[in-house]
Amino acid sequence: MERFEIAVIPGDGIGTEVMPEALRVLEAAGSRYGVEFAFRDFDWSCERYKRTGRMMPEDGIEQLRGHDAILLGAVGYPGVPDHVSLWGLLIPIRREFDQYVNLRPVRLLPGLTPPVRDASPGDIDFWVVRENSEGEYSMLGGRQGEGTPGEMVMQASVFTRRGTDRILRYAFEFARRNRRSLVTSATKSNGIYHSMPYWDERFHAIAEEYPDLSTEQEHIDILTAKFVLRPRHFDVVVGSNLFGDILSDLGPGVTGTIGVAPSANIDPEHRHPSMFEPVHGSAPDIAGRGVANPIGQIWSAAMMLDHLGAAEAGAGVLAAVESVLASADAPLTPDLGGTARTADLGGAVAAAVAAG
Ligand code: ATP
Ligand code: MG
Repeated sequence: MERFEIAVIPGDGIGTEVMPEALRVLEAAGSRYGVEFAFRDFDWSCERYKRTGRMMPEDGIEQLRGHDAILLGAVGYPGVPDHVSLWGLLIPIRREFDQYVNLRPVRLLPGLTPPVRDASPGDIDFWVVRENSEGEYSMLGGRQGEGTPGEMVMQASVFTRRGTDRILRYAFEFARRNRRSLVTSATKSNGIYHSMPYWDERFHAIAEEYPDLSTEQEHIDILTAKFVLRPRHFDVVVGSNLFGDILSDLGPGVTGTIGVAPSANIDPEHRHPSMFEPVHGSAPDIAGRGVANPIGQIWSAAMMLDHLGAAEAGAGVLAAVESVLASADAPLTPDLGGTARTADLGGAVAAAVAAG
């Protein structure tokens, strides 16, 4: 039996409420599909920061190293600035483990009401691949002449050959592996003078290695409009750190599901653990009431199974989510229009996995 060691970081707020549901679904998937898990719990959070002054211990990264994957809930707490939770936990993990791919599915699940017209489950089903390590989010630049009439700010972007090629290649490999035929590149080479023409150039170069796949490039402005107007068109969409960031929230938004969407921070070369987390935050407004929707966390766990090579188990979990949401008596949480509790929905998915 395959055995995976998973670092579990529930974090803050509803992170601590949805995580137990994901673990319960993973246990069910383990029994059903012959996979064993060793979960190790870490209390790293803003709550810990308030007690100790650190989100995670000094040797936190070392403690995570050696795990097969990291399952994260959500971090964030009213009064603790976002940069503390970001720079104290999420960014060091992404950087140290070179998780250069951020992957998000855009998929219309049953039972959700999309803001786009006439869409049924199955209609909208594509993936956003975001570059997660360089690009527009750089520290290069600064202010000049502050307080003078010449006051100015510069912000540089960094696109390395290695960083650009590896994310583009990942998108093509991902498309091939998942039997998708179209790879769309987000660009803005009609407005951004240096970096985006380079991005286009590398996109065309890498595309030549994949003659079996169709390609297109779209400027980010019209691409965002097409996400809303023609979401059925897409298979795999690849973008730089900034464009990918925008598209990876817009995508789930188009399905009406930002609260149930998952995301993965991946090191595709499997040198380090990858990290799986729901898109949503700690939701302080509903925390502590046991009514958070656990689907984002459960779906993140399904992506983790895929990444670990337990594809059958991953597909089983996603199928269970879809069958529960499609059933007439689904225990829906309040965000989906029901009155069920977090544990009711999580329990129903776990039962469907076991029966699947
Ligand atoms: P962050 O800053 O951590 O990215 P945020 O504060 O922008 O997050 P969330 O914490 O995700 O956003 O909350 C946004 C809204 O969505 C809140 O009203 C919250 O209650 C709701 N929400 C988020 N996740 C869930 C969930 N799993 N179930 C139900 N409602 C949710
Ligand atoms: Mg927040």
